[in-house]
Amino acid sequence: MASVTEQFGSLVFDDRVMKANLSAKVYQSLKKTIDEGAGLDLSVANAVATAMKDWAVANGATHYTHWFQPLTGITAEKHDSFISPAPDGRIIMEFSGKELIKGEPDASSFPSGGLRATFEARGYTAWDPTSYAFIKGKTLCIPTAFCSYGGEALDKKTPLLRSMEALNKQALRILKLFGNNTVKCVRTSVGPEQEYFLVDKDMYDKRRDLVYTGRTLFGAKPPKGQEMDDHYFGVIKPRVAAFMEELNDELWKLGILAKTEHNEVAPAQHELAPIYTTTNIATDHNQLTMEIMQKVATKHGLVCLLHEKPFAGVNGSGKHNNWSIATDAGVNLLSPGETPYENAQFLLFLCAVIKAVDDYQDLLRISVATAGNDHRLGANEAPPAVVSMFLGDELNAVLEAIETDTPYKGAEKTQMKLGVDVLPNFSRDTTDRNRTSPFAFTGNKFEFRMLGSSNSIACANIMLNSAVAESLKIYADRLEAADDFETALHEMIRKTIKDHKHIIFNGNGYDDAWIKEATEKRGLCNYRTTPDCVPHLLDKKNVDMLTSQGVFTDAELKSRYEITLENYCKTVVIEANTMAAMAKTEILPAVEAYTAKVAKSAAAKKALDGTLACAYEKQLVKKLSALTDTIAAKTEELEKAVLALANTESIGEEADAIRDSVLVKMSELRVPCDAAETLTAKDYWPFPTYGDLLFGVK
Ligand code: ADP
Ligand code: MG
Repeated sequence: MASVTEQFGSLVFDDRVMKANLSAKVYQSLKKTIDEGAGLDLSVANAVATAMKDWAVANGATHYTHWFQPLTGITAEKHDSFISPAPDGRIIMEFSGKELIKGEPDASSFPSGGLRATFEARGYTAWDPTSYAFIKGKTLCIPTAFCSYGGEALDKKTPLLRSMEALNKQALRILKLFGNNTVKCVRTSVGPEQEYFLVDKDMYDKRRDLVYTGRTLFGAKPPKGQEMDDHYFGVIKPRVAAFMEELNDELWKLGILAKTEHNEVAPAQHELAPIYTTTNIATDHNQLTMEIMQKVATKHGLVCLLHEKPFAGVNGSGKHNNWSIATDAGVNLLSPGETPYENAQFLLFLCAVIKAVDDYQDLLRISVATAGNDHRLGANEAPPAVVSMFLGDELNAVLEAIETDTPYKGAEKTQMKLGVDVLPNFSRDTTDRNRTSPFAFTGNKFEFRMLGSSNSIACANIMLNSAVAESLKIYADRLEAADDFETALHEMIRKTIKDHKHIIFNGNGYDDAWIKEATEKRGLCNYRTTPDCVPHLLDKKNVDMLTSQGVFTDAELKSRYEITLENYCKTVVIEANTMAAMAKTEILPAVEAYTAKVAKSAAAKKALDGTLACAYEKQLVKKLSALTDTIAAKTEELEKAVLALANTESIGEEADAIRDSVLVKMSELRVPCDAAETLTAKDYWPFPTYGDLLFGVK
């Protein structure tokens, strides 16, 4: 068997393979495109395409696909084979530069939020050479962007690349002002930690809620949940270990740096963390990771649940987006430096992030908004829906000293002007941890913790990059015009701290008192649900920022608004329909059958001995009857609430109605059903229980 080092990246057309298979001239030219975004001419594309095809065919591929990320949130592919007829009736394997650069899938069935009328159904895909091509199964996959014929982005990659470019442009301006004339580009990197659940496939197949919606819609609390904290970092069970081993093999072959794996807090919950890499590659890799997790699980008789809240009363799954900014020379701009001058630059970038997170709290919240994630945020297990930042004691003290012009411990002079000689060194502090903050500084990176486990990380990073680019732009405009750079820098840092310190919170983010303080005293946004936050995507300040940074057009933003709410509505309606169907065709018949059995047994006892009271049976039949009546009534109410959606006039109105009535009716229906579960004999209950699912994988 091949060693890990041999296996790693064996299915990736990476730098090593390019170097080995391309002429020096073609390689150089492609490298320039990858590293500096230079244009690419067709002769180079042709040479790359041929080399790619030869390599892919040698590795067993027969087909190729442009691999893209439409607004469904998952990836899409349309396979074409390499075969081309030869004059002698045989075939040759062919792949041209044109086919590499551009594809034209029929775009009409992907969500576009009105961007592309069906009569111009054609969209096109365009090669992203910065993310390596790879082989999946027998198919060469080429990462691409996906646009409408009119050039509007129909995907998540295009705005992500634009946001990275926006941040690059502004960060370069700042670095020039600090005298860095050698830097070529600045990129953000991300390491996303991915949580998921594993359940037994046979049990999963018996639950229509899991099959149709990815989460359980019913289920009484099991006698044991996560209260013992005995799962977190616990010994990994053999079936799970076998799954993880194969998952690692598959990910490594694709060049994905899967690094850490452990059990999470909830039973059956696990986490995988890769080593961080450039944001757009990390995004592609995270999409692939989610896909391969599900595939490998099936091979082990398991199902991987990526839903944010598969089980009520048990922790849900999120994704931690560890994010940093670095130069092409590998200098991390969020790492405190060795000298006061470097520290001044660090403080400026830190302030840019503080300002960005405060000014665009709403966009960050929107970037993680889905029906699934609404169950998590604010449920005392994930960060609240209020965005705030954690910086740690040392940085806080530094910022406070700057704001109030008082000496920071260790500083020699009382004046805290950020001059070359005045600001003291402060060491990077990685010991300080706060696990309840939505946006925490962790020594040399920020960890944005509000993402849901099924979210594409593209959305959060688009907003984050764009907002930070905007802060940097404002700073660069001011500093470029300043007579005295150091004074202007100092003033600006101070002003940022003053204006934005209300976003900084170092306490317990799960505490109710914090939500009160955040909203009432500090005026921070608290958008609890998707319909609450998504309309703010179209607020003027947000549209102005995102369009002026060149990340979205007006039309693209409107389409994102539509699609996010559409997804929300469709998701909940499917859940509601599944609930009603399960209640009517599984739960009610089961409870009825059991009630009849109990009644029959009482009758039999009475026939045997007329003096027997049969109090237990009578009580039980009474309780079960009352529950079936309630279940039937609540099911009807839920069905009515769904039907009433037809009367809404816009997607916004529909989403509000779902939040205010459908979801409420769903919770109401669940209560009697879960109560019935606790009173019905296990043999009669129509599907596996929470206990079965959570503790069923050995
Ligand atoms: P934890 O948060 O569990 O303590 P780590 O801090 O070691 O774990 O790392 C979590 C994730 O952060 C990993 O995916 C890691 O690769 C990523 N990471 C580490 N350094 C950086 C960085 N400079 N930029 C972006 N991500 C990073
Ligand atoms: Mg972490």
